[in-house]
Amino acid sequence: MVASFSTVQPVGRTASHQLGRIGVFICECGDKVAGVLDVEFLAESARRLPGTIYAGHAPYWCSADGRERLQETIRAERLERIVVAGCSPRTHRRLFQETAAEAGVDRALVGLVNIREGCAWPHRGEAGAATTRAQAQIGMEVVHVAELTPRPRAEVHITPAVLVIGGGLAGMTACLELADAGVPVTLVERAPTLGGTAAPDTRDLTDAVQTHPGISVKLNTHVANVDGSVGSYLVTTTNHKMRNTSTPRGGKRTQHGPFGAIIVATGVPDQETNELAKLLRLPQDAQGYLPECRIRLRPGTYVERGVYVCGSAHYPCDAAETQFQAYSAASRALRHLRRVKMTAQAPVAQVNAEKCNGCGDCLTVCPFAAVTLEERLEGLSLSVIDPLLCTGCGNCVSVCPVGAVTVAGWADSQLEAQMRLALGEALPQAASSQSPVLIFACEWSGYAAAELAGAQKLSYPSSVRMIRLDCSGRLQPGLILKAFEMGAAGVLVLGCEPKVCHYERGNERAAAAYQQAEAITGLLGLPSTRLQIAWTPPDDGPAFAELVTRFVEGVEEVGAGK
Ligand code: SF4
Ligand code: SF4
Repeated sequence: MVASFSTVQPVGRTASHQLGRIGVFICECGDKVAGVLDVEFLAESARRLPGTIYAGHAPYWCSADGRERLQETIRAERLERIVVAGCSPRTHRRLFQETAAEAGVDRALVGLVNIREGCAWPHRGEAGAATTRAQAQIGMEVVHVAELTPRPRAEVHITPAVLVIGGGLAGMTACLELADAGVPVTLVERAPTLGGTAAPDTRDLTDAVQTHPGISVKLNTHVANVDGSVGSYLVTTTNHKMRNTSTPRGGKRTQHGPFGAIIVATGVPDQETNELAKLLRLPQDAQGYLPECRIRLRPGTYVERGVYVCGSAHYPCDAAETQFQAYSAASRALRHLRRVKMTAQAPVAQVNAEKCNGCGDCLTVCPFAAVTLEERLEGLSLSVIDPLLCTGCGNCVSVCPVGAVTVAGWADSQLEAQMRLALGEALPQAASSQSPVLIFACEWSGYAAAELAGAQKLSYPSSVRMIRLDCSGRLQPGLILKAFEMGAAGVLVLGCEPKVCHYERGNERAAAAYQQAEAITGLLGLPSTRLQIAWTPPDDGPAFAELVTRFVEGVEEVGAGK
C-alpha cells in the first residue's frame, strides 16, 4: 500500500535544539504537592533551564481560574511550549493541551510531568529528596518538550463504502448488516457460487445478498492488490474463471473502490489468506489464522485502520460464533465509516530520505503496519510512514541500522539530554550528591504501575529517576550503556509482561537490547545487580514499589562505583 496524504506536510527536525519560549507551570494541587515539595525552589530551578522564560506555581492550574491565568501567561510571555508539573498526563494531558491551544500553543508542544504521584506521594517522608527528584523530572520534561516539533494535523476522509472478501456465512452476514444500514458493499468471492462450506444451509442468505440493491457481488474473483491508504483503499481484482467470456483465465484486472473499510471473511487459512495477510499487512499466527488486529492505544482507544477479520479466518468457530463475529465486524466498520474523517495527533516517526537505505527493518517491526517501502531510483527503496497509523512508539527507531528514522522528542540525542538531567549532570543547583538509579519505563506497564503506586501512597526509594517511553522496544543497548557512562548507579528497564505487550513485541526487542547491554556491562566488570529488566503489570502498585525498592537496595549493596 502506498500512503499518500495531500494534507500532510513533512516536518523536518532542525539540526539544532528547537527550544522556543518555554513556560513551566508547577501545580501545588492544594497542599497535595505543595505540602511535600518546595514548589518555590522548583520554579526557581526551572527558570534556569535553557529555553525556559517563565516558571511559576499556583494552587490549581487545572481549575477555571488556573487555566485562565495559564492562558494569560502564555499570551503575555508569548510562550511557544509549556510543561505542566502536577498530576498525571494520562488524565490531564488533553485538558492542558486544549487550554494551551486556545491561547495559541501547538498542542503537540505541551508536556506534563507527574510530580504528585511521581514524587510528592511516594517520597512524602523525605521532602528534600522528593523535591530533588521533582526538580530532575521537571527538567527532563522541559528538555523533552524543547525538542518537540509542531505538526500540521494529518487528515483524511473516510469513503463510506466497504469491501467484503469471502462469500461464506461470515462474509454474507456482514454484507447484509452493512447494506441494510445504507452502506454500499462490494462482495468478492473466489468460488463460482456464494455460501462457502455452509452453502446448503445458507440459501436464504445467499438469495438476500444476491438480490440486495446495495450489494455488488463479484464471483470467481480474487484480490490481487490493495493500494491507497487508510480511509480510501483501492483494490485490484482478477477474474480467474471467465468461462463465459473470451477473457483469458486470470487475465482481467479491475480496480474497485475507494473503500473506507475492508472485511476479511475468507474462512480457514489457505494460500489466499496468506496473500491477503501480506496485502493488508495483517499479522498471522503459526497456523495461518489472522488474530485480533485491533491494537489498543489506551483504554477504549484503538489504532483504527478500517480492516476487520471475522469468522474462521480468525480462529475455528461454529456457525453461531461466525455470525456473531460478522455482526461485530460490520458494526465496527460502520462506526469507523461514521467518523467521516480521521486526524492524526500523536508525534510520528519521520524518515530521513537521504539516510534511509531501504532495508525494510522498520517495516518488519512496526506493530501498526504504518510503514511502506516505496520504490525510488536505481532499484532502491525508501521507507514511508503513514502519519495516521503511526503512534510514535519508536520501535522502528530502535532497529534502523543507519539512524534514518526518528520520533520527535525521542531521538537518541534527546533521550541522552533527558538522561543528563536525570543523572544530575545538567541540573542547576543540583541538590543531592546521591547517584540516581535510572528507570526506563514503558508508558503502558512500568509507568502506569508507578503512578498507581504513588496514588496508593506506597513508598519506594527517592533516588530513582524515570524516563517514560511509549514502548520499551524503543530502547537500544547504546542508551543503557550511555546511562552508566553518565553516572547512573543502576538501570532498570520496565516493559509489558510477555504476550501482553501493548505493541505486540516491543518487550521482546527491549529484552534483546537488555541482553546486549548486559553482555557488554559484564565484560566491563559491572555487577549484574546494577542492570535489570522486569515485566510489570500496570495495575499492581505494590509489586512496582517492591521491585524498585529491592533493585535499589541491591544497587546500594554493591555500590555505584563498582
Ligand atoms: S514509531 Fe512505531 S508506529 Fe510509528 S512507524 Fe515506527 S514502529 Fe510504526
Ligand atoms: S530501517 Fe531505516 S534504513 Fe531501513 S528502511 Fe527503515 S528507515 Fe530506511
